Amino acid sequence: MKLLEGKKALIFGIANKRSIAWGIAKAFHEQGAEIGFSYGIPQLERRVMPLAEQIGVSFVEMADVTKDEDITNVFDKAAAHFGSIDILVHSVAFAKQEDLTGRFVHTSRDGFSMALDISAYSLVALTRQAIGLMSDGGSVLTMTYYGAEKAVPHYNVMGVAKAALEASVRYLAADLGPDGIRVNAISAGPIKTLSAAGIAGFRKMLRYTEERNPLRRNVDQDEVGRTAVWLCSDLGSGITGEVVHVDAGYHILGMPEPPEKWE
Ligand code: NAP
Repeated sequence: MKLLEGKKALIFGIANKRSIAWGIAKAFHEQGAEIGFSYGIPQLERRVMPLAEQIGVSFVEMADVTKDEDITNVFDKAAAHFGSIDILVHSVAFAKQEDLTGRFVHTSRDGFSMALDISAYSLVALTRQAIGLMSDGGSVLTMTYYGAEKAVPHYNVMGVAKAALEASVRYLAADLGPDGIRVNAISAGPIKTLSAAGIAGFRKMLRYTEERNPLRRNVDQDEVGRTAVWLCSDLGSGITGEVVHVDAGYHILGMPEPPEKWE
């Protein structure tokens, strides 16, 4: 028996084959889940459709998560298509490029609220709709990063948004637990994706973590996908409100190994 046999999952945030959401979709498919996709902008349809075909996904809908009417529309269509769902995956984030390059103190009011709206509030908005389709309990999963816990160069307003996202995970978990709905986050190490490319110095970040974390390598989308299976399947039935790090152990370090040249 596959771990997600008989489960229906709606996944938000597939942009292309590098997306973490695609790593999760492949792992869910391997474990027998029935899957639906939602993507953010019309231009991405040509990239998302071939991926959907690759794993037999027939439900593919566009939704801009800043628009309540888009969210309602996608869940109305999901209700008609699936009847009910068991899993919601939220793998969505955005901040203005200028807010991921300069000094944090220069973050504009508009940039701050946009990053928080798309990257944190959208989890609450999508979950509110999803629970209407989770007739037999369910599991909600979102994606976060260590920049929520500690200041990371250039991550800036996205770190603040991820902190709000992680707090939202805990509040949603407390709120929805009595209904049998679990809410968790995966805190992934840096992975080369479209969104990550917008963070200044991202290549250096990849190299820095690879050289210092306990496993001395970076993680990939497939490793995140396998952890998502664990959290969203019955294997994770006792886990809610948790942030699980899939970062080759980077977050446990109080101080990375000092460079040899200092000896
Ligand atoms: P990605 O492939 O670019 O995925 C980000 C997704 O967010 C895209 O599908 C994008 O769709 C969507 N999105 C942005 N604004 C949206 C909106 N208004 N409405 C609907 N969708 C919207 O990059 P990724 O790295 O896989 O990111 C997925 C998640 O993982 C994010 O939450 C990210 O912060 C998190 N994460 C990434 C890393 C990393 O190093 N890559 C590490 C830890 C956590 P459109 O492009 O169509 O708008």
